[in-house]
Amino acid sequence: MNVGFIGLGIMGRPMAKNLLKAGHKVTVFDFNKEAVKDLAASGADSAKNGKQVAEQVEVVVTMLPNSPNVKAALFSEEGIAAGLASGKTVIDMSSISPVASQEFAEKLAEKGVSFLDAPVSGGEPKAVDGTISVMVGGDEAVFKKYEPLLRDMAGDVTLVGAVGAGNITKLANQIIVAINIAAVSEALVLAKKAGVDPEKVYQAIRGGLAGSTVMDAKAPMMLARNFKPGFRIDLHIKDLQNALDTSHSINASLPLTAELMEILQAVKMDGFEKEDHSSIVKYFEKINNLELK
Ligand code: NAD
Repeated sequence: MNVGFIGLGIMGRPMAKNLLKAGHKVTVFDFNKEAVKDLAASGADSAKNGKQVAEQVEVVVTMLPNSPNVKAALFSEEGIAAGLASGKTVIDMSSISPVASQEFAEKLAEKGVSFLDAPVSGGEPKAVDGTISVMVGGDEAVFKKYEPLLRDMAGDVTLVGAVGAGNITKLANQIIVAINIAAVSEALVLAKKAGVDPEKVYQAIRGGLAGSTVMDAKAPMMLARNFKPGFRIDLHIKDLQNALDTSHSINASLPLTAELMEILQAVKMDGFEKEDHSSIVKYFEKINNLELK
């Protein structure tokens, strides 16, 4: 398939490489010239802006930080929409506000362009080995057409509902991940304070009911003092803000998410916003005046 890919960051770069490996013709654009060069070395074509990408392909995939970035990439003067013709498709794989996804879909529909919101979970290691989970919102016929393309980057691909449902699902995912990291942090800090080796506590409980994918990914990072992202604190703040905004707009209440937001904010204030979200543990270490290792 002739595919455009815009946004070659921690996630987008390996995802675009997996499309190349699967035999697609891929045309890329990012502000980061080094990332574009890297993709070109792997066999991608490059374009000078989103418009030029869209003119050359049948489907454009975007993997950008947040709603304003996707809006700019789509609708700025030399953006994707300027190069799209009727019958083409945009698949936005960024984690953004579901309300923004619906706005973008409506605006693109005026041009006869289809839209799927298809955020992902799994982080960089799974983006590299092509096993991320993709949660998709959109029309079923469009989904069916592009499901094989998504599977070339992913393990699981699930259509969850209409446009916006993909990002609602991703917000649910991010709430569970943030609260789970905080729970692991609080528990390991208790162990340390009580004089029990947190590494042994982790090994003892990881196979039981408290064990989780989050615990297995993040507890070893906390114990090894490895806070290299992965998934950054500033991106998780963005996701929880989108969760709170969305919940307020539909008259729902998220008390645990609100508390986690303040914890993440405190971690950011201490200067750790570019670190992995496993550095949530530093908040619990600070209030208890200790370090796990
Ligand atoms: P990143 O910051 O590493 O990459 C974003 C890329 O987008 C950068 O290369 C930037 O130059 C580019 N960009 C921004 N605006 C642009 C524009 N208008 N035109 C062209 N390029 C532009 O972010 P990431 O970690 O790859 O995350 C991307 C999305 O995936 C985010 O929404 C994030 O929440 C989500 N996500 C990330 C992870 C993870 O573990 N990193 C996991 C799941 C989902």
